[in-house]
Amino acid sequence: MGNKPVKDDTMDLLVSLCKRKGFVFQSSEIYGGVNSCWDMGPLGVELKRNIRDFWWKTMTQARDDIEGVDAAILMHPQVWVTSGHVEGFTDPLVDCKQCKSRFRADQLDTKVCPNCGGELTEARQFNLMFKTFMGPVEDSAAVVYLRPETAQGIYVNFLNVLAPSRQKIPFGIAQVGKAFRNEISPGNFIFRSREFEQMEMQYFVHPSEDQKWFEYWKEQRYNWYLALGINKDKLRFHEHGPGELAHYAKAAYDIEYEFPFGWKELEGIHNRTDFDLSRHKEATGVDLSFFNDETKERFVPYIIETSAGLDRTMLTCLADAYRSEIVRDEKRVVLGFSPKIAPIKVAVFPLVKKDGMPEIARKIYRDLQRHFKCFYDEKSAVGRRYRRMDEIGTPFCVTVDSQTLEDQTVTIRERDSMEQYRVAAEQLAQVLKEKMGPAF
Ligand code: ATP
Repeated sequence: MGNKPVKDDTMDLLVSLCKRKGFVFQSSEIYGGVNSCWDMGPLGVELKRNIRDFWWKTMTQARDDIEGVDAAILMHPQVWVTSGHVEGFTDPLVDCKQCKSRFRADQLDTKVCPNCGGELTEARQFNLMFKTFMGPVEDSAAVVYLRPETAQGIYVNFLNVLAPSRQKIPFGIAQVGKAFRNEISPGNFIFRSREFEQMEMQYFVHPSEDQKWFEYWKEQRYNWYLALGINKDKLRFHEHGPGELAHYAKAAYDIEYEFPFGWKELEGIHNRTDFDLSRHKEATGVDLSFFNDETKERFVPYIIETSAGLDRTMLTCLADAYRSEIVRDEKRVVLGFSPKIAPIKVAVFPLVKKDGMPEIARKIYRDLQRHFKCFYDEKSAVGRRYRRMDEIGTPFCVTVDSQTLEDQTVTIRERDSMEQYRVAAEQLAQVLKEKMGPAF
């Protein structure tokens, strides 16, 4: 097609596109904003939900060995003592003595302030958990935490899920939900915020099979990003060295994506051993072991964890899909989302606002709405309407024109190839479904 890519400052352009088109807004913007929290707009909420659904269906609907839960954000405060978070969920904090900027010491390449070159204080350990009080009295006995990860809600429900689901080891529990971390230096748009959503799956295995399942989940999770439409060249594994491993982990890999601001973690795959269940068993006296009826063996399962950030995945989808190109001497901006996650799947237009075209187009629009998230637009020249849809990542546009009035066919225009072809209006939903492929 000869479309030429244009080099741009992708992050700035993305942030501005997200605001302008209604993907992401800064929280409490009219009050000056909260710099580490974000609100999803009409398109953002659809995109995020589509990614979440894609994850959820891959994990639960497409398999029979994973069950879902949705645990409360507020948990018994003792959970976070047992898990090690009260003691050890800290980051090293340093301040610049000159300009007063704050940094995470482990994220700095230099020993002096990257802002002004000033001298830095000694690092202090800073706990990342948000605290609040349960009930009317604000004393230390009433302290509860906003969960910093969703995983603990899974561990404490291990037995609750095991019994009714009649699962046997190996099996998994999946959960998607909000997590909160009082990050020292949030930033890079929705990459690191203080309130975010995680998509976590904990897979319970026999201790002798941990390595096998670790390898299995590494591969599954990498392939999931490919199925999401992410460019393979921008994905890689990073293996944690001994100094990087979390206190609970025997082995860990991150899946990383090459963002415009560098290679960064998207998801962690961890072999957590029997650390979590053993600790909770010890703290509560509840026997969190598994009894195998056939072998008569009782054991505390090992856990292989896959822990992904939903907001980070959304940013990955946006950054990966974004392109700006010159087509016939005109710039076009495209979000080339996979149809699976595109916030709007189909736009319907009458070519012109006369000759009964809007009425036919509206009827088609209403019919398609039962199958897909659609958008109707009759304002401005059709070329501009196509461009507006390209910019928000709509994979298909359907146009009703004068030929429709004669033979009941409509034009489908594809976002990526810009190819156009005619199909019978009555076959439209079926044709579009086939073009979009399976939902997950
Ligand atoms: P980092 O080193 O970047 O702080 P982490 O190793 O502490 O991350 P995990 O505790 O393994 O992260 O969390 C699992 C996933 O949750 C991460 O891979 C990421 O996608 C997501 N996540 C963690 N912290 C944040 C955050 N502050 N904002 C958005 N997503 C986050």
